[in-house]
Amino acid sequence: MPLTPFHLFPTGVVYFLFYRRLHGIAFILASVLMDIEPILYLVLGFPQGSFPLLLGGYVPMSFHAFTHNPFAIFLGVAPLTAILAKSLELAKPLWLQIFLDAEWIDYSWKLTYLSAVLGCFIHLGWDSTMYSDVNFGFPFTRISNPLRNSQFEIWIGILSLILIVPAYFVGKRINGGNPLRKLP
Ligand SMILES: [Zn+2]
Repeated sequence: MPLTPFHLFPTGVVYFLFYRRLHGIAFILASVLMDIEPILYLVLGFPQGSFPLLLGGYVPMSFHAFTHNPFAIFLGVAPLTAILAKSLELAKPLWLQIFLDAEWIDYSWKLTYLSAVLGCFIHLGWDSTMYSDVNFGFPFTRISNPLRNSQFEIWIGILSLILIVPAYFVGKRINGGNPLRKLP
């Protein structure tokens, strides 16, 4: 399922609580880029069907086959996001002209990458409660998703909605400054 605004609520709660330690662009962009799969299939015409796994067996084409697993996060989505986020930083003077009262914080490549990893895993965590086609063993083997649970799915959604405003105020006390005026 393509990204919905609701996908950003759990991400938002975590961001508001820890924003000073997180590369915001990498963290949020990673959460969005996790759902690049439908675009690959529907827009770019990636081949559909079954894909062979390295240790045998096949995985069916789905929206959660390639990016929704730890392997793709560590070696694909997170590094790609870190590069994109660092590239966007090159326009720092422009960003500071657009957001005049922004506070700019420099983040290392390592912290940028780790922010992207965390954004991906928060996305994967909630998706895992929704979709049975999430395969934690990709691209090696098929590991059926043990986290699929519609009760968890609903509760994560409700809790994120309830907590987003308190997280904003608690996070401001913890971190200082303002999460909406911090770059990147
Ligand atoms: Zn997803």
